[in-house]
Amino acid sequence: MTTLFTNACLLPCTADMPVIDRGWLLVTGEVISALGGGAAPEVPGAEVVDLGGDVLMPGMVNPHSHLAMSLFRGLGEDVDDRLYRYILPLEREFVAPDMVRAGTGLSALELIQGGVTTVADMYYFETVVAEVLDSAGLRGVVGQTLADFDPPDHRDFDEGFARVEELMDRYRDHPRITPGIAPHAPYSTGMAVMERVAAWAEANPGYPVQIHLAETGPETDWAAGLGLSPVQAVAQAGLLRPGLVAAHCLHVSPDDIALMAASGVGVAHNARANGKGGRGIAPVTAMRAAGIPVGISTDGPMSGNTLDLFAQFAPVSMFQKIAGGSRKPMPAVEVIRMATIEGARVLGLHRHIGSLEPGKQADLIRVSMAAPRLHPVYDIYATLVFSAMAPDVADVMVAGRWLMRGRQVLSVDPAKARADAAQVAGRFRGRMAEIDRALRGR
Ligand SMILES: [Zn+2]
Repeated sequence: MTTLFTNACLLPCTADMPVIDRGWLLVTGEVISALGGGAAPEVPGAEVVDLGGDVLMPGMVNPHSHLAMSLFRGLGEDVDDRLYRYILPLEREFVAPDMVRAGTGLSALELIQGGVTTVADMYYFETVVAEVLDSAGLRGVVGQTLADFDPPDHRDFDEGFARVEELMDRYRDHPRITPGIAPHAPYSTGMAVMERVAAWAEANPGYPVQIHLAETGPETDWAAGLGLSPVQAVAQAGLLRPGLVAAHCLHVSPDDIALMAASGVGVAHNARANGKGGRGIAPVTAMRAAGIPVGISTDGPMSGNTLDLFAQFAPVSMFQKIAGGSRKPMPAVEVIRMATIEGARVLGLHRHIGSLEPGKQADLIRVSMAAPRLHPVYDIYATLVFSAMAPDVADVMVAGRWLMRGRQVLSVDPAKARADAAQVAGRFRGRMAEIDRALRGR
């Protein structure tokens, strides 16, 4: 299949972040074969898609999420102890392959409609997550979680590692699914298990390790018990290494940042989820200045409510401006860089995706410029960051395959995704009513 896009506001997201007015781009099979500005070439046999001035840019990258948790979206939102009252009991009782399938399916639909083409997930039953993302045509980095808090799919770490091996066996050579391992956090795995994960990473180069790092007060206290910061603890376990995707990194000192920069890790920044939890503002400007790649992520829809990267853009920019006390930090163009090529670098996929260049995978999105809130345009990056919304994404292509055209999703059945989610939510509601009754009866 050959597709020629013409008449585009082309954003290749290469090093100097150029804007090519009246640009064109040619997709041959799975890859981008050529692009440029000015008059498009004649390509016999190609389907010509005239974009009429709409934006054509790389599919966006979300480097940290828990997709199946879409089923917890908005649940007990204003209940102070919702985690212990509802979420943990519900997870313990209901997280099983069918629940993960339903939640990830709903999320796949949301990702496609929001122009996200690559997502990193850390949850349970990751072979199911991989199946759902594969069938939706998305690109996924799937990390099997390891944790010590009685998680739903492994009784002990040996069983957890066996799940990792099963995932690796099935997806090691998949063109769009990258399997990996996800120690939940330093305090919930411990030094010995982090050392075991580091040995796994040494034996499996090129496969990412995802972790929550420097996120919470109890985590800082746990590390302080060892006389270390959380970053130092991970470093001491041998896990601070290229391929580590560290989510949050809220509580990192200048020394921690230097250590992280020297070790080649990437950071997934969850501005909106962190803000909503009152957790703080990650020192993104300082981390990037040190050379650490930072991607923009949503976290799970339980804490962040949405998998919409457009909804993250304003907080990502504003938090750095507030922290810096000036309009200058985190200009719009840097936000879009983080959402594309820099996010791809965090996941180690930057040679294949994240920018529009000949030879790269044809993962791209069309952003419609029809909405009045997008006009006039003085700086297209400012328009995308502060005015665009997920419903402006019109078309989505991954590896040369259309996943959405004219807002119609082609690779996921939207009605089924919503119905499956509603069915699980019904079971959650029943259990929540029982929990409330039991608490009232006390
Ligand atoms: Zn998370």
